[in-house]
Amino acid sequence: MKTLFEKIINREIPADIIYEDELCIAINDINPQAPIHILLIPKKPIKKLSECKKEDKDLLAHLFMTVVKVTEMLGIHDSFRININNGEEAGQEVFHLHIHILGGRKFNWPPG
Ligand code: AMP
Repeated sequence: MKTLFEKIINREIPADIIYEDELCIAINDINPQAPIHILLIPKKPIKKLSECKKEDKDLLAHLFMTVVKVTEMLGIHDSFRININNGEEAGQEVFHLHIHILGGRKFNWPPG
């Protein structure tokens, strides 16, 4: 069965797409937790970070470099937070790897 994010990538479900390349897509989160809340999603449907294999090394590097690109695009390059929820206990709801990119406000530490 396709994940929600695969359906968004395939344009079967609408989303605010703010960036796309051959390996990943970035969309506005539907329930933003900050003035800027982006989800950066690899097109490859990896369930979660802990299921990445050695062969995914270049893809992971690409995702991190895309975080830099997208935060530059959005003018939050100086200060932003990224978050990956890995597994239910960590708050993961969509089992298709994604990086939350949050910006536009001050963040506290530790997170809840
Ligand atoms: P996680 O809890 O880390 O799996 O994050 C899933 C995220 O997907 C949540 O922040 C949701 O608000 C977001 N989300 C769920 N459905 C959609 C959708 N249709 N479009 C954009 N974001 C969504």
